[in-house]
Amino acid sequence: MTDWEAVIGIETHVELSTNSKMFCSCPTEFGDEPNTAVCPVCLALPGALPVPNEKAIEGIVKIGLALDCEINERSLFYRKNYFYPDLPKNYQISQYTYPVCEHGSLDVDVDGEPTVVGITRVHMEEDTGKSSHIGDGGGRIQDADHTLLDFNRAGVPLVEIVTEPDITSPEQARAYAAELQRIVLALGVSDARLEAGSMRFDANISVRPVGTTELGTRTETKNVNSLRSLQRALAFEIDRQIRVLEEGGRIVQETRHWNEDTGVTTSMRTKEESEDYRYFQDPDLLPLEVTKEWQDEIRATIPELPAKRRRGFLDAGVDVETAGVLADDDDLSRLFRDAVAGGATGRTVGIWLTGEVIAYLRRQEITIADTSLTSGHLVELGSMVDGGDLSSSAAKEVLLAVLEGEGTPGEIADARDLLQVSDTGAIEEAVDAVLAANADAVDKIKSGDMKPFGFLVGQVMRHMGGKADPKVVRSVLEQRTGS
Ligand code: ADP
Ligand code: MG
Ligand code: ZN
Repeated sequence: MTDWEAVIGIETHVELSTNSKMFCSCPTEFGDEPNTAVCPVCLALPGALPVPNEKAIEGIVKIGLALDCEINERSLFYRKNYFYPDLPKNYQISQYTYPVCEHGSLDVDVDGEPTVVGITRVHMEEDTGKSSHIGDGGGRIQDADHTLLDFNRAGVPLVEIVTEPDITSPEQARAYAAELQRIVLALGVSDARLEAGSMRFDANISVRPVGTTELGTRTETKNVNSLRSLQRALAFEIDRQIRVLEEGGRIVQETRHWNEDTGVTTSMRTKEESEDYRYFQDPDLLPLEVTKEWQDEIRATIPELPAKRRRGFLDAGVDVETAGVLADDDDLSRLFRDAVAGGATGRTVGIWLTGEVIAYLRRQEITIADTSLTSGHLVELGSMVDGGDLSSSAAKEVLLAVLEGEGTPGEIADARDLLQVSDTGAIEEAVDAVLAANADAVDKIKSGDMKPFGFLVGQVMRHMGGKADPKVVRSVLEQRTGS
């Protein structure tokens, strides 16, 4: 029996959310009316000339810098020639040699196992139009009665990010894709919506016997519209390829289509080799210059990236999962930081924000801004718990009331009579009363049998109407019984 290992490389397309298209001034924000955001350039009327969109170039450079790429000061636009009805020019303007960004990397982590995924290139291209195949064929071109074309999307700036074949499992592929999506969102260059297609993954995969280094023949799977489908599609493809090879067959280099409902991939078309596209430099476009000065200006606008943000949260004492949840949310991140800066304990605030607060926001379908919770409230609440004035379960009740706008933690704890007594005098009195009434229990404890200790704690709490700080009760009891 051969043991197999998977080799995976991912191509990601990201639609940039610029105001206008890549090579013309048509808007990218369009309503439902097809073919309204079009002009001679994106409809490829004879004589119309493309002009690159500066904001789009800034967007791709941001992505490249965030992925630790080298930015080419001079890059070239090529024509990628193929015929399809949604491509009015019969070529797509893309890049080939000298893309804007090359040789980057992205660190991903699966269950604490770090891997570095090499980024081969990040290049600039333009999106195609959208075809709808009408008829009984379930949207498939071969069974359609006719096809409708909408060119509103034609020419929208598209960034392609290509990895080295460094990924070794579907889980890692998912982690890579998720991290890339977080980065794109943090950069604010795209809405990166997988279900809407503004971020799309093509999953290249091959298998080979463990211990060999030569790459096997790969397939490329399209139509994965969520992180979960990316993982599922790859897992399916690994099994399928291994089965084919073990039955003595061979893998055909082809493009396959993931079907979310059936959970299988099917062959779409045999894969074109790049020679088939007759790439040549676009004579309508000059070389693109991204000077060092411009790169520096763009670098200065890059916000804190998710990985760095997570590291900061880990350093503030939260666990990996909590750090991830906090970092994905700007409002929660800000509250967390401000609360910790104000003296609150990171671990406690992290638990509140990712527990009670998120659950509350989801229930009410609102955001932090719709509530009156401030970092000051978190600091106050934290110090009440640390100071023994509030039990941790009472703190959660108070937190919900703060979210509801009932007041500050102090006011709420007071109004709801939730404050604990940690004043030792009052507790000592209660302890003495309880000990006097339970001489048997005291004798047992004094002779080394600790069983009744919990019972005594409970009695003192009862005596105090449940409002004593149990820590103080325990320590007074220990003193008094000499245990
Ligand atoms: P193309 O431009 O034809 O799509 P590329 O050579 O640019 O092909 O590779 C596309 C993606 O496929 C890259 O992410 C690359 O890492 C990955 N890839 C290439 N060869 C293999 C292979 N044998 N197995 C798995 N992935 C591969
Ligand atoms: Mg490709
Ligand atoms: Zn246009």
